[in-house]
Amino acid sequence: MQSNQRVVIIGGGLSGLTLAYLLAKININAIILEGSSRLGGRIQTIKGLNKTPLELGATWFSDIHPNLLSLIDELGLIKYPQFSKGISFFKTKSFEPAQQFFVPEAELPSYRLAGGTQTLIDSLSDRINSENIQLNTKVKAIKELDHEVLIETTSGKEFHAEKVIVCIPPQLAINSIQYFPELGSEVNHTFSNVQTWMSGSIKFVLEYDEAFWRKNGHSGMLYSHTGIVSEMYDHSNFEENKFGFTGFLSGAASNYSQELRKELLLQQLHELFGDKIMKPLAYFDKLWTDEFISGANQIIQRPHQNNGHKLLQDSYLNGKLYFSATETSSIYPGYMEGAICAAKRVVREI
Ligand SMILES: Cc1cc2nc3c(=O)[nH]c(=O)nc-3n(C[C@H](O)[C@H](O)[C@H](O)COP(=O)(O)OP(=O)(O)OC[C@H]3O[C@@H](n4cnc5c(N)ncnc54)[C@H](O)[C@@H]3O)c2cc1C
Repeated sequence: MQSNQRVVIIGGGLSGLTLAYLLAKININAIILEGSSRLGGRIQTIKGLNKTPLELGATWFSDIHPNLLSLIDELGLIKYPQFSKGISFFKTKSFEPAQQFFVPEAELPSYRLAGGTQTLIDSLSDRINSENIQLNTKVKAIKELDHEVLIETTSGKEFHAEKVIVCIPPQLAINSIQYFPELGSEVNHTFSNVQTWMSGSIKFVLEYDEAFWRKNGHSGMLYSHTGIVSEMYDHSNFEENKFGFTGFLSGAASNYSQELRKELLLQQLHELFGDKIMKPLAYFDKLWTDEFISGANQIIQRPHQNNGHKLLQDSYLNGKLYFSATETSSIYPGYMEGAICAAKRVVREI
């Protein structure tokens, strides 16, 4: 099967979808090839038993993210502050009671999106012709021909394009896609050493039918140096009629089964929040290490390593190949803001 397009975008995460949306606004029709069975990439909102929007991926943003804020406005979405009123906990030692603190009201607020971060993805994809989005289409090779590029997928499909924009984490882009001609050893080395933000992290969500912690004067916020939960926040919805928590588990939790993770988590929270915490409506967690976020042979010494590197922002194959994932951005690389900045940069360049 063959198809001819002016622009092919690889990856249907925030960067790829923003790019397609911005190109559509200037009448450039782009096709998105997404390897997995869903759009959103590192943005993934699921629904609990009560239909509470629960974030397994990106959740928060703030006033320091102007490009994200203006996209949210343009799409008519609603932001609301992360709930933080009441007593918060900081647990430093397993054998000592948790310290209590209050988040100062004047602190720069973290926002969430009403309906979940997925509404950003859904709103962008609603504005892109659905025929231009192909799911379950994993790209394995990009070949330069005379005046175009040939894109090959793992299922044997082929696409011809004038330009191809790879919107997947650079480290994955170099390890899971082959380029002909090769991009050179410096590119291979640099891209392989770009840290993919949040790769390997474990996010959990809990759903409850009431916010009993708020009634007890607690914010739901916890920072812990001990136990399986390292961070936790109230995760109730915008309308304040669906309730829950979200947070991160410590790295060691990846060695446990999901059942054991839930058991250890509830045990840890019981001490702080009492009996009602033991009966959630739903528990989910996600270890972000699948084939669509992690590649092989990472040599990473520090967070955000090589993010925004000049080689990530260059064009290749005589101006026919660009890269645009959040890690390519010089501004807030790794974050949603970076994904949008990267897309805007590529639109300016092509
Ligand atoms: C647990 C977690 C929490 C986070 N929290 C926050 C937060 O609170 N605030 C914030 O600003 N950011 C947060 N982030 C980061 C944020 O999610 C990312 O910055 C942003 O979503 C990245 O978008 P992207 O389009 O650049 O990449 P991605 O979202 O990674 O999109 C890449 C897409 O490419 C697809 N793909 C991969 N390989 C191929 C292939 N070979 N062929 C075709 N398609 C392919 C993937 O399936 C994916 O859909 C978080 C991330 C995680 C994982």
